[in-house]
Amino acid sequence: MNNVFVYCEIEGTTVAEVSQELLTKGRKLANQLGVDLNAVVAGTGIKNKVEDQILPYGVDKLFVFDAEGLFPYTSAPHTDILVNLFKEENPQIALLGATVIGRDLGPRVSSSLTSGLTADCTQLEIGDFDDKKSGKHYDNLLYQIRPAFGGNIVATIVNPDHRPQMATVRSGVMQKALYEGNAKGEVVYPDVAKYVPETDFVVKVIDRQVEAAKNNLKAAPIVVAGGYGVGSKENFDMLFQLAKELHGEVGASRAAVDAGWVDHDRQVGQTGVTVHPKVYIACGISGQIQHIAGMQDAGIIISINNDPEAPINKIADYVIVGNVEDVVPKMIKYYKQNSK
Ligand code: FAD
Repeated sequence: MNNVFVYCEIEGTTVAEVSQELLTKGRKLANQLGVDLNAVVAGTGIKNKVEDQILPYGVDKLFVFDAEGLFPYTSAPHTDILVNLFKEENPQIALLGATVIGRDLGPRVSSSLTSGLTADCTQLEIGDFDDKKSGKHYDNLLYQIRPAFGGNIVATIVNPDHRPQMATVRSGVMQKALYEGNAKGEVVYPDVAKYVPETDFVVKVIDRQVEAAKNNLKAAPIVVAGGYGVGSKENFDMLFQLAKELHGEVGASRAAVDAGWVDHDRQVGQTGVTVHPKVYIACGISGQIQHIAGMQDAGIIISINNDPEAPINKIADYVIVGNVEDVVPKMIKYYKQNSK
């Protein structure tokens, strides 16, 4: 049986969180299929530095490609590593982060192998498929689930005939967890020159600037998010005040970002950040599917909306029907009073 592969991204010698999230998901898929979970990582000076960040997620076999020129990432050598490795190993599933690197690498690998690729999946599952056209039945395909047609439908995409079934997933969409079962944990260090021709190293990265994240939205335990119903940039200050009191972070809908009330890096949803806070307070947010995609796994959802029929109220645990500008100052006032 062919295995599940995860491409692990690194920054120096640090494995990206999105890769660990994908390893966790990959392990579950491999268990369902009764196959191994394999991982591949490529960089410079990473031997004995990355293994401990990858194996605990339940990896049976890890391929570490360590050579000069493999970090910082450039397209050609990483593409050849995956293409040539996948030709040898024939994985049935290959997962990558929907990051700048994954978005560059995934399509190059899938087009070289003439397999399919579904970008930005929000769920991955195993299931059967009956092809009505050919009358063929397929067992155990990867359901690559994501919003499609501008978010109006949630599509389940399958790739019955070509391998690997490739998907990218954005950071934060899957949850990472160390594996509690037993995995083989084998590590191999292939000869990079066998996979990557010298001509792949023509591009040299001369300088890089890595910007630190401006907020902690992704990891915040409490998110106070504002939508178009907040009404103005000034009103957003109230949300920042409430978030400060609660030791949380401010998020926003795309409508609020587009209105220029808050920076884009605070956008929650399909084309923003995915968050899993303990508490999500949605202020003046209607709850369109593209927004919900980024926050539906929050522990408790509180909606503040002057429309009792707002779609977000259907997934909210608590609904406060009222105007943001009336409710939020009261929340700040009473929280301050009661938390002393
Ligand atoms: P609205 O839909 O206008 O809702 C405003 C809400 O505020 C209403 O429910 C209203 O009842 C309420 N309200 C009004 N006044 C008040 C008040 N004074 N007090 C209390 N409540 C009030 N959106 C995202 O958020 N994230 C994404 O990542 C994202 N990606 C997208 C990707 C694509 C391809 C597309 C097509 C769209 C995407 N969108 C995304 C946009 C999305 O479809 C919605 O347009 C957007 O989420 C709406 O934002 P909103 O809920 O703030 O605004």
